[in-house]
Amino acid sequence: VELGAQSIVDRIGQAVEKLLKDNKIAYKDFIAVGIGSPGVIDAARGIVMATSNLKFENVPLAKMLSDRLKKPAILENDANITCWAEHVAGAGKGCDEMLLLTIGTGIGGGIITNGEILHGFDCNGAELGHAIYQPDGRKCGCGQKGCIEAYASASATAARAEEALRGGTKSLLKKVLDEKGCVTCKDVFDHVAAGDALAKEITDGTAKALAQFCISMLHISGPECIVFFGGMTRAGDLFLNPIKKFFNEGIWTIKKERVRFCLAMLGDDAGIIGTASLAMHTQGK
Ligand SMILES: [Zn+2]
Repeated sequence: VELGAQSIVDRIGQAVEKLLKDNKIAYKDFIAVGIGSPGVIDAARGIVMATSNLKFENVPLAKMLSDRLKKPAILENDANITCWAEHVAGAGKGCDEMLLLTIGTGIGGGIITNGEILHGFDCNGAELGHAIYQPDGRKCGCGQKGCIEAYASASATAARAEEALRGGTKSLLKKVLDEKGCVTCKDVFDHVAAGDALAKEITDGTAKALAQFCISMLHISGPECIVFFGGMTRAGDLFLNPIKKFFNEGIWTIKKERVRFCLAMLGDDAGIIGTASLAMHTQGK
């Protein structure tokens, strides 16, 4: 990182060449480069506008790697990449209209419409975590108030549990808070499984927020399936079933909706599968 972007690009180039050699893949069979990156990405121009971990600022990463390897290169943000991977090879396979929500420290997301990633003007689209859920609600790290991320992310779920405990609500989670000084989202879900009333109330709050958000999204982009990705989804049915319940209770009654809710299938491989297949897709392969 200290040596700067060009040095990082050279190292990536060397790694690609070594992988091709080790796997006996001819250079001519290597079609294109796909890059997934966190941070603020201008996918259309292949530029990393800002990212905290690599300290990149306005780095034309796609062009730099394309120049280094003499192959076309595409750049995409990591949430869109995950969404694309699940669209081509995972839970949303075959769905040209889909939505993916990554629920972790924050909430990220991606939208596939007409079989393509939705980018929006200036690549600002599908920043789903910062859609407003509660007018003038809880403060979000982004500077807005009431973002869905401030209610339903793993961090927000843990924070709401801690607030209730510090406010005196009785729960088995109090022991965890006293011992560790904090509670995690996993602690809360573990206590739901153990029958704790506060834990259930907190995770129901998360599920309700996500369900209402999904109702809004159904009316905005009309997905055939909504895929959930990220640490919180490890709770499985404890995570997904309440979302379905609150969705069905809250959705309009004008017509019956057929949208499917599912958990992502590709896990940590989503980034690799997504970037590779998106690079090929962009090359018309
Ligand atoms: Zn926000």
